[in-house]
Amino acid sequence: MLENARENNVQQIICIGTSHEDSLVAAEFAAAHDNVYWTYGIHPEYATSNNAGIPDGVALMSWRRGVRRLANRGVAREPRGDGSERRAPERDISDRTPSPVAIGEVGLDYHYAGYNRTAQIRLFEQMLQLAVDSDLPVSFHVREAFDDFFPVVGNFPTVRGVVHSFTDSKKTLRRILTETDFYVGVNGLATYSTLPTPPLERILLETDAPFLTPVPFRGIINEPAYVSAVAKWLGTHLGLEYEIIGKETTKNANKLFNLQHAIVRQA
Ligand SMILES: [Zn+2]
Repeated sequence: MLENARENNVQQIICIGTSHEDSLVAAEFAAAHDNVYWTYGIHPEYATSNNAGIPDGVALMSWRRGVRRLANRGVAREPRGDGSERRAPERDISDRTPSPVAIGEVGLDYHYAGYNRTAQIRLFEQMLQLAVDSDLPVSFHVREAFDDFFPVVGNFPTVRGVVHSFTDSKKTLRRILTETDFYVGVNGLATYSTLPTPPLERILLETDAPFLTPVPFRGIINEPAYVSAVAKWLGTHLGLEYEIIGKETTKNANKLFNLQHAIVRQA
């Protein structure tokens, strides 16, 4: 997939964490491959009344100490057949592990019935505080929850980020563009929907696998190489050269995630 991506002009990849354990897998993957970066995040679908046992103090610590402490406490648990849980295999954040380039994806998702609004907001606030303390941007996942999203992020005025896989209304897009400095994630969905398109200077291209494969590759598993198809679609849609789309969105990503300077940082 990495080779396929490079052959299709996708030169830099950010592997997105969606749970504690998953983020550490992303960290290992990034450490083993050139031009692959990672993020640390706990997706709102994992918010529970006790937020998976995340201790209160974690949000107040740097990502490295915070993540280390989470790992040591065995927060990530795997269910067993008998209904009990066992600790997930140990993964450690070593000094050789590159720093994450963002906190995310984190946010609010009220799409599925039975979601716990209070727990999601609490987890989101903890992750936002982690972003502030670590001086990292945020990849936001927001689905049918913008009424809560704006006031919650409003309490963290220094936070930078991207509203990934934007799927909301024109009105909401206008609010993001005028009330915040956030970028907006555009992916394969744009090629087969009627979503509003943000201006180029606010767009980040993204894969969002395994679904949302762009036209003309619908029906197969999405992968980073197909981001080039999104760039081609965007070029046609905005009346701009494909190369301009690639250059500008790469510039946006480098700026937000500071990819040129993403090196191993000591906590
Ligand atoms: Zn998402």
